[in-house]
Amino acid sequence: MLTGDRPAGRLHLGYYFGTLQNRARLQDLAVNTFMLIVDYQVLADRDVAENLSGNVEDLVLDYLAVGLDPAKSTIYSHSAVPALNQLLLPFLSLVSVAGLGRNPTIKDEIKHSQQSAVSGLMFTYPLHQAADMLFCKSNLVPVGQDQLPHLEFTRTIARRFNRRYGVGGDVFLEPEALLSSAPLLLGTDGGKMSKSRGNAIALADGADETARLIRGAKTDSIRHITYDPLVRPEVASLILLAALCQKLDPQDVAEEVGSGGSGELKKVVTESVNEHLAPIRARRAELGRDRSHLRDILKQGNQHANPIAERTLGQVREAMGTSY
Ligand code: ATP
Ligand code: MG
Repeated sequence: MLTGDRPAGRLHLGYYFGTLQNRARLQDLAVNTFMLIVDYQVLADRDVAENLSGNVEDLVLDYLAVGLDPAKSTIYSHSAVPALNQLLLPFLSLVSVAGLGRNPTIKDEIKHSQQSAVSGLMFTYPLHQAADMLFCKSNLVPVGQDQLPHLEFTRTIARRFNRRYGVGGDVFLEPEALLSSAPLLLGTDGGKMSKSRGNAIALADGADETARLIRGAKTDSIRHITYDPLVRPEVASLILLAALCQKLDPQDVAEEVGSGGSGELKKVVTESVNEHLAPIRARRAELGRDRSHLRDILKQGNQHANPIAERTLGQVREAMGTSY
């Protein structure tokens, strides 16, 4: 299993319910788990990656706080695995520029980009993700819905490579996405909750900050609360959040609030989020007291990932006839 995150800010509830919970669950089922910090990709939509190493450490801290365990999972950064990055070159030869331009996630990322001009890295983003997923022959990728086009793209790359070069047998597997029951949690502005869009509730936010953010969340003008994701997406996302925290059915949460309106709904959401996150937040604060071990975890993960990437690159070069 492989999945990755951009170290561009603190992990939020969208991540947590979109993928992190699934990762922790799979890790505890003894699935071979890779947790990739995609540090190069922070530069895909901005000119300068501020506080990159601090954000990388924060990401490791968030992982630990939600129960990811470096003894069971390989936690590493792709900039420290050169053979993984070299896979980009053959992969680039398998796609057209027009095909990259049509990728819906790239289009969306460009719309929200903080760059002065769209960089080449933005267009190689899905290929880099393909290299991330394929280098360790992952077959399961727990992600949010926004990543599905990238996953489909990765499957295409694996197929094309195998067809073009895999005469002696397939080199790559085609990984499958694993969606959670919250594949697209909305942020306080009604758009996808995202750490780069100022609409997120972070795992590390305090209880008061969480209350403030939820108070300001977008709802609608219908007083009676109902769970209707298609017609009332913002209200439904808040209901879902409370339901996930309390392990309840969203319909039941909606009925419970009913005529209480959005004020009551926000109160319920705030309480359930704060209660659910309290132990995670306490663990994060405790583990964050000494940050030196965060780097050690990464070093150890990088050491584990490098020989795996070298082995895969060796197979790729063999298949391409460039193994001298
Ligand atoms: P950025 O704004 O930097 O792109 P992000 O908040 O979109 O950050 P990513 O690092 O791009 O986060 O995504 C990490 C993982 O979390 C991906 O699997 C993604 O699908 C998932 N994820 C992110 N936001 C949400 C969300 N709102 N709902 C469900 N899953 C999400
Ligand atoms: Mg994203």
